[in-house]
Amino acid sequence: MRSSEKPEVLLHLEEMLSPVRQLLKAHSLRRTAIREQVLNVFLQRKEAVSQSDLEQALGHPDRITLYRTLRTFEEKGLVHRAIDGTDKLKFALCSSGCSHHKHQDQHAHGHCEHCGRTICMEGVWLPELQSVDGFQVKSTFLIVQGVCSDCGKRIATKK
Ligand SMILES: [Zn+2]
Ligand SMILES: [Zn+2]
Ligand SMILES: [Zn+2]
Repeated sequence: MRSSEKPEVLLHLEEMLSPVRQLLKAHSLRRTAIREQVLNVFLQRKEAVSQSDLEQALGHPDRITLYRTLRTFEEKGLVHRAIDGTDKLKFALCSSGCSHHKHQDQHAHGHCEHCGRTICMEGVWLPELQSVDGFQVKSTFLIVQGVCSDCGKRIATKK
């Protein structure tokens, strides 16, 4: 057995941890009920969610706790802001490359004008800008407005 290989017992234990617990562990976050619940929603939805979406999904938990949970997740590299051009602040699950204070979600976000959902467009990357006409760039957002695939199908079958 090579020294890098883990004993079989440990491998089994890791398998037993749910995706949610694995994520919390990977970002050095203590397990709390609200953290697990919020992460579960992010894993199930596969789209960006706002604080009010989470309030509804979780049966209206304490707002301050929910707010702090989202901010902690953002700080720890679990979720990022999905700017979609609306006045609703939404968050989306990060890719595995994000860590504490270091996000790598330099992708566009697509906003469906039919159902209002916002999705991460992995693979549509933001241009790297240092400065434009003396303007120092701090952050860049790329929003793609259109019709999501679900709505597209629905529209197509109505015709
Ligand atoms: Zn991130
Ligand atoms: Zn849609
Ligand atoms: Zn995203």
